[in-house]
Amino acid sequence: MKISVLGATGSIGLQTLDTVRSCLLGTNIVALSGYSNIKALASLVDEFKPEVVWVPDRDATTRLLELCEFSGEILTGEDGLISCATETNADIVVNALVGRAGLAPTLAAINAGKNIALANKETLVSAGELVMNIAREKGIRITPIDSEHSAIWQCLQGSSALPEKIILTASGGPFRGWGRERIAVASAQDALKHPNWDMGAKITIDSASLMNKGLELIEAMHLFAQPPEKIEILVHPQSIIHSMVQFCDGSVMAQMGLPDMRLPILYALSSPERVATNFPRLDFLNCGALTFEPPNLENFPCLSLAIHAAKTGGTLPAVMNFINEWAVNQFLQNKISFYNISEIIDKAFDIYNVRTVTSLNDIREAESWAAEFLERG
Ligand code: NAD
Ligand code: MG
Repeated sequence: MKISVLGATGSIGLQTLDTVRSCLLGTNIVALSGYSNIKALASLVDEFKPEVVWVPDRDATTRLLELCEFSGEILTGEDGLISCATETNADIVVNALVGRAGLAPTLAAINAGKNIALANKETLVSAGELVMNIAREKGIRITPIDSEHSAIWQCLQGSSALPEKIILTASGGPFRGWGRERIAVASAQDALKHPNWDMGAKITIDSASLMNKGLELIEAMHLFAQPPEKIEILVHPQSIIHSMVQFCDGSVMAQMGLPDMRLPILYALSSPERVATNFPRLDFLNCGALTFEPPNLENFPCLSLAIHAAKTGGTLPAVMNFINEWAVNQFLQNKISFYNISEIIDKAFDIYNVRTVTSLNDIREAESWAAEFLERG
């Protein structure tokens, strides 16, 4: 198997390479991309010896060449990232980029006939219908890396029956059980303390606001061709059940495991096969009680906004995704407060006229509207 890893230096990228290192011997890493952590990229280049590497610009190229031995092709810029996703002989492109940067390389890789192992949920949030339609036309497999979606997909294996309901589980994030006043003054440092998962900064903030679960609702709609009404969100603080599927006879399938992203990453790369691992095993006698509660929509308005965007469809999820990404960055830099994230999205929803999506251009126009909205302040 030949794979390209976009976003190789991030949380999912590094865990993908760790999974390859320990479980997928004989896999050839043909392309790697990094962004700000060039030192980490250099050490991956030394180890995996890809044919192609992407870095953002010329300075990063110079730095990379100072830090490692590399005689292959170095690509830069937005077009370069697309070439990195398309112009190799990779069978699978792992998209572990964060945010909007993930959409164009996913689409280009699909058009180039590459299968996609998708961590970048923002791709499906902003342009899910478009991406899934093109993948279907081209006969491309999009396998989910997101743990909940991997769980749903595993529960659906071998079944021709349609799900009656998908139960998307959520840990509830670091602010579960906190009062509104306390959440209102929470800092980025508070929000970055996720109870169960160690992830990149953006998804960790999205998990604190429950926007992550809203993004995942939209992701699930597209991956499994289900309307939002058939996807229920259930808080399960232990993150042992990664999601469930209920069938028309009332039977419920759950996929369980320790919270370890290497499992969904491995399955996305190896399915339908199961590959033996020495990863820690779930010990039912010592994992404690598994509990469930409904999400608190009052304290976590981002989830309500995302449910609204999921039900409305069209260009609204792309607008929400754009504004959320900007607001999360502002929050991480302590420029806005936690509830400002949802307030800004809410304000945009009040005045935005939703359009239907027929091409990537409609998404770009929606994002331009969102950028202007943010500039107006
Ligand atoms: P991260 O921030 O740790 O890593 C992101 C990667 O993208 C890095 O390699 C970074 O250098 C690169 N990058 C950032 N901005 C870029 C840009 N503008 N252009 C090109 N490259 C850029 O993020 P992560 O936690 O690994 O998450 C990656 C994706 O996977 C996200 O969409 C996230 O929602 C999803 N995801 C992550 C986890 C997790 O456990 N981390 C779980 C499920 C889904
Ligand atoms: Mg997830």
